[in-house]
Order: sequence, then C-alpha cells, then structure tokens
Amino acid sequence: MKTIASFTVDHDLIVPGIYISRIDGDVITYDLRTRYPNAGDYMDHLTMHSVEHMFATLIRNSPVGDQVIYFGPMGCQTGFYLLMRDTVPPRDVYRLVRDTLLAVVRHTGEMFGAERKNCGNYRNLNLFSAKEECRRFYDLLPETPTDMAYPATPDAAAPVPPAPPAHFGVLAAMQEELEGLLPRMTEVQERTVAGIVCRTGTLNGKKVSIACAGVGKVNAALCTTVLISILGCNRIINTGVAGALSPDLKPLDLVVADRLVQYDMDTSAVGDPVGYLSGAGLNRIYLESDSDLRAALMSRAAAEGVPCRAGMIATADRFVASSEQKSEIRAAFPDAAVCEMEGAAVAQVCTLFHVPCLILRAVSDCADGSSSMDYPTFKVRAAATSASLTASLIAGAR
Ligand SMILES: [Zn+2]
Repeated sequence: MKTIASFTVDHDLIVPGIYISRIDGDVITYDLRTRYPNAGDYMDHLTMHSVEHMFATLIRNSPVGDQVIYFGPMGCQTGFYLLMRDTVPPRDVYRLVRDTLLAVVRHTGEMFGAERKNCGNYRNLNLFSAKEECRRFYDLLPETPTDMAYPATPDAAAPVPPAPPAHFGVLAAMQEELEGLLPRMTEVQERTVAGIVCRTGTLNGKKVSIACAGVGKVNAALCTTVLISILGCNRIINTGVAGALSPDLKPLDLVVADRLVQYDMDTSAVGDPVGYLSGAGLNRIYLESDSDLRAALMSRAAAEGVPCRAGMIATADRFVASSEQKSEIRAAFPDAAVCEMEGAAVAQVCTLFHVPCLILRAVSDCADGSSSMDYPTFKVRAAATSASLTASLIAGAR
C-alpha cells in the first residue's frame, strides 16, 4: 500500500500555521493547521462544524470565491483543508485566509446555513465557537505570508504547545441548581446528547457548557463524560446542594470537596474496604478534586465574604433523610462533611479523563428527620449561592 502524502509529513514538527499540503494539476491543497498535532488539544465537533459553515460561506463570497474548490475540517481535529485553483497565487491565498478569519470574528449576523434544510446536523452549530477558533488562528498567523512549507528539519526540537484556553463544563443534578448561571450566559447554543440538554456559550468571556445531569451517580457520570468527550470541556465544575453530616454545618454553608468517597460502593465481601473503587486508573477509596481550582474558589469566596470550607463529600445513590443513615455514614467515614448523590461520580470520571474538577456543595438540610422541612426551604437559596460563586470562579479563570 502506498503511503499517502499527508502521512509522510512529520507531525511532531508541525505548529499551527498555513502550509501547502499538495499540488494536483491546477489544484493546490492548503493545510490550515489551527492546533498543535497530538497535544491533547483538539477542536470539538461543534467547533469544526461551526468554522466550516462560517469560513466556507465567507471565502466563497470573496472576490476569488469561484476559485475555491473545497473547505472542510481534518478528521484529526487539528485543522482544515482548503483547496484552491492555482490561478490565485499562494501568497494571496495566505492573505485571503487571514481576511476570511477576521471576517468570521467580526461577523455580526446569524450563523450561516443553520436551518434544518441547509445542513445535516443543524443543531450542532455555535457562532461563538467558530469565532473563538478563528480568532485564535488569526492571532498566531504572521501578517506577512510565510513560505508555507512544512517544517522538515529532521533534528529540529519538537515545539512545546501552550496550554489550551479553558472550556468549563458545569453540571448539576437539578435545573434549579443551574438557574443562577443560565441568565449570565450569552451566545448560547443548545444541543442534546444522550438525552442531556447541553448549553454552550460564554460567561464573562469564558467558554462554558452547562448541563443538567439528573439525580444520581450514573446520570452524573454520563453527563460528565458528554461534557468532556463530546463537548471538549477541559475543566469540570459540579455545583449543587447537599445534606450536612458534620454537626457544625448549617443550611447555606458552602463546602468544596477536597476528598470524595462513594460510600455505597461495597465489595467488602471479597475483602476490599468499603468505598474501594477498583479498575485501571483507580484502585483507591478516595478521589480528589483539583487543588488549583479549589484554592481559586476558596479565595473567591473569601473575597466575596462567603463562608466556604474544604471537606470530604460522601456520595451514594441514596437520599439521606434520617439520623440513623447519617450515623452509618459517619461511622464508616468520620471525616465526611456532607452527603449527596453525584460528586464522587463526577470526580471518578474526571480522574480517568485527567480533567481537573471542582465539586461545590451548599448545605440545604441537615440530612436527618428535619429534611422534609429544611430541604425545599433552603434548596433554592443554597443553589443560588453555589451558582453565584461558580460564576465568579469562571470569571476569574485564565
Ligand atoms: Zn452543516
């Protein structure tokens, strides 16, 4: 089998830029590389699709639009191919690409081709994602055209890619727990994956996707997986409410998880300790949240005068509503500060994907006989407090 030309290029040496990939007769294929190859920073499908719609429309409407043969994303999610007739000199194509990127960034109207009759997956489009990718690419392209040859020095040091920009995924079990965030978001695009409604947009200039997961560990794990692997989130925040286990916690107090445990995970019959999570990448009882995100949240809380402490969160598929159940959890995990139904599942998925996570809970009730009275009363206020601090954390993130 003949190796195709694009596989012979050393992808370890490629940095974002514009390259001439191949020439076939009068057709020149340009490699518009927006991301570093194999750096763990890939365009998500929403971004590729959105750039395709915007860039293709605008370049085909340029003065040399009839010389454009094709524009579309690379399967490897690190760039696009642009096929042009050679009647347009490469240096002019370089300038045309920059101009087109800028036109996407400055576009003020609607997303092009976003109607059902125009596109095979019309809900999966988001103008902000297209603008963000185009701005990022535009900013790193020198104004003066480069020679557009692939880096070929065999002994050149592989480039070190910069950290990708933050894309926060925020999930909660119940819609009320996200209500404080939704109105703060702009350029929101909705998408449903596996029954989960995900809204991607901007919050204080940061890219954010939020989703209501539903109650319980499986729902939380599925939602976290969707946010990371389908929507491309690289930071996860799980907000919500919890029942107090620690006697010195009262309704509306905030707890940010330092450790988390799934206290209903029990294989003790085969000799494991209660809470033990087996499997590659796990084999532990306690999961941890990201220390940087936790520190950032604690300092935000302190700056805003909101009392917030770090503590252990105990998770299970069980709504705790009696002092007997509370005592049982405290007997097995004396350090557990609050109990709820999602946090440790989110942390498990994030651990396995190597994505930093923050689990924040506002105490809604005392998880005992008084639950039925406390819970509805405090749930709404607790959720609002938690959401407001989340928005503040995202605003301050780099
Ligand atoms: Zn489409």
